[in-house]
Amino acid sequence: MDEHEVVIAGGGPTGMMLAAELALAGVDAVIVERRLDQSVDGSRAGGLHSRTMEVLDQRGVVERFTSAGQTYPAVGWAQMTLPMDDVPSRHNCVLGLWQSAFEPILADWVAELGVPTVRGVEVVGLTQDDDGGDVTLSDGSTLRGRYLVGCDGGRSLVRKAAGIDFVGLDPSTSWMIAEVEMAGEPELGIRYDDRGMHALGRRLPDEPVRVVLTEPTPDRTTEPTIDELRAALISVYGSDFGLVSAGWISWFTDAVRQAATYRSGRVLVAGDAAHVHPPQGGQGLNVGVQDAVNLGWKLAQVVKGTAPDSLLDTYHDERHPVGARVLHNTMAQVAIATPGARHQALRDSLPSLMVFDGPRLEIVGMISGLDVRYDLGADDAHPVVGRRMPDLDLVVDGRITRVYELLHQARPVLLSFGATGSAAGPDVGPWADRVVLVSGESTAAGATEWELPVIGPVDAPAAVLIRPDGHVAWAGELTDPALPDALTRWFGPPRR
Ligand SMILES: Cc1cc2nc3c(=O)[nH]c(=O)nc-3n(C[C@H](O)[C@H](O)[C@H](O)COP(=O)(O)OP(=O)(O)OC[C@H]3O[C@@H](n4cnc5c(N)ncnc54)[C@H](O)[C@@H]3O)c2cc1C
Repeated sequence: MDEHEVVIAGGGPTGMMLAAELALAGVDAVIVERRLDQSVDGSRAGGLHSRTMEVLDQRGVVERFTSAGQTYPAVGWAQMTLPMDDVPSRHNCVLGLWQSAFEPILADWVAELGVPTVRGVEVVGLTQDDDGGDVTLSDGSTLRGRYLVGCDGGRSLVRKAAGIDFVGLDPSTSWMIAEVEMAGEPELGIRYDDRGMHALGRRLPDEPVRVVLTEPTPDRTTEPTIDELRAALISVYGSDFGLVSAGWISWFTDAVRQAATYRSGRVLVAGDAAHVHPPQGGQGLNVGVQDAVNLGWKLAQVVKGTAPDSLLDTYHDERHPVGARVLHNTMAQVAIATPGARHQALRDSLPSLMVFDGPRLEIVGMISGLDVRYDLGADDAHPVVGRRMPDLDLVVDGRITRVYELLHQARPVLLSFGATGSAAGPDVGPWADRVVLVSGESTAAGATEWELPVIGPVDAPAAVLIRPDGHVAWAGELTDPALPDALTRWFGPPRR
C-alpha cells in the first residue's frame, strides 16, 4: 500500500492550494484527482478577490495569475458595483481570471513543488483509525495517509464517508448558465421580470456570451440541453439571438449548505466540500483557497510533531464562521434579487446607501475577504491580532523588502520594528527552529500607524508574530509575557 503523510481527495483550487502549502512545509502529500488533466467544464468562477491575491503574493506567485487576467477596481454585490480603489491592500481590485485559466497556473506551481497527483481515478471509500486512514480508489488500489483531506467538491465523498452532516437550505431558485455563440448581438446587461433576474454578458469582445437565466422552478435535476436553453432565451427575451452553439451549459441553485464540522478525527474537509452556496459575489473559489491556507501550516506542524493534534481544531473554529458568513451574504444577495415590486423598491434604495464609505467599505471588506478576523480569544489585544497582516514596506539589514516577501516560505515570522521595538525581550531561541526572527524598519508610511481594511488606522505595534497564513497571532512589545504563550499555542512547546 502506498503511504503518505497527507492524502488530498480532489485537485481543484482548494486541493491544489493545500498541496502547495504542505509541500512548502516539507510534508509528503499526494492528490487524488478524477480528471485526467486540469481542464475545467466552462469557465466557472470568474476571478480572484483581494485576499486570495494577497495569499498568493505571500507565496511569491501572484504575478503568474495577475499577468494572465484583467483587474477591475470594484467588487460586485447584489448587482451593484462597489469601488474599492481606496481599500488598503496592494491588490485592491478584483482579478478577472476564469477558473479554467486559474487552475492550470496553480497546477504548474504545485507540480514545480513536487507534489504527485494520481489522475484519472476516484476516491470511492475511506476508513480511519487512531493513526490515520485508508483511501480506496476506483482502480482497486488503496492509499494510506496519516491525515485525509476532502477537497472533493460539493458532493464530497470524503465528507459523506466521514459521517459529517451537510446542513442548510434546499434551493428556492434555479438558474441556467451557458457560454454561447450567437449570430445576433443581444443587448448585454441584467434584466428583471416576474421570474427573476436574467443576465447576458461578456468580458472581452472575442469571448462567448455568458447567459444566466432564472428558471421557472427550482426542481431541475439534470443538465440543461441546448433546446431548453433556446426555449428559455425566447421565453425571457423573445429571441434566441441566433443561438449557434453552446460550449457549456449547466445550472446552479441558491441551495446553501455547510459541513457541521470541518474535522472528524483524522479527516478534514475544505472548500466546496465544506460549504456550498450560490455564486453571487464570486466567493466560492476564494474561500476554498483561503481554507487551504489556514489549514496547510497547521496540518504540517501536526504531521511533523512540532504542534499537538488539537491545533487542527482551530481550523474549524476559524474557518467555519467565515464559511457561514459567506452563506449568509449570498442568501442576502439572492433575497435582494427576488422578483416583484417590493423587492424592486429594495433594489432601488440600496445604491443610495452605498454612496457612503461606511456601508460600501463594510461590504467590500467582506466580499474581498480582507476583513476576516479570527477570534483568537484575546479581547484586549491589539486590533491587528487575528486579522491579516498588512503588506508594509520594510528595510531589513539595509535591504528594501516588504512583509509578504518574508512569508514566501510559509514559515511563521516574529517581526520587530527597530524604530519602535524593544531590544530586550524574552528568549525566543527555543522556537528558532520554527519561527523566523526578523528585525526591520518600517518606512515612514507604516512607522506609527497602520491602515487596516474596514476598521481604518491603528497604532503600529512594536512587534508582531505572523502566522504562515499571514494572520497576526500576537502584537505588542517583545517584553510582553504573553509572547511565549502565543509562540507555544501556535507553534508548539519550546525546544531547549
Ligand atoms: C456555474 C458556477 C459559477 C461559479 N462562479 C464562481 C465565481 O464567480 N467565483 C467563485 O469564487 N466561485 C464560483 N464558483 C464556485 C467555484 O467554482 C467553486 O467554489 C470552486 O471550484 C471550489 O473549489 P474546490 O477545489 O473546493 O472544489 P471543486 O472545484 O469542485 O474541485 C473538486 C475536485 O475534486 C475532484 N473530485 C471530486 N470527487 C472526487 C473523488 N471522489 N475522487 C477524486 N477526485 C474527485 C473534482 O474532479 C474536482 O477537480 C462557481 C461555480 C459554478 C458551478
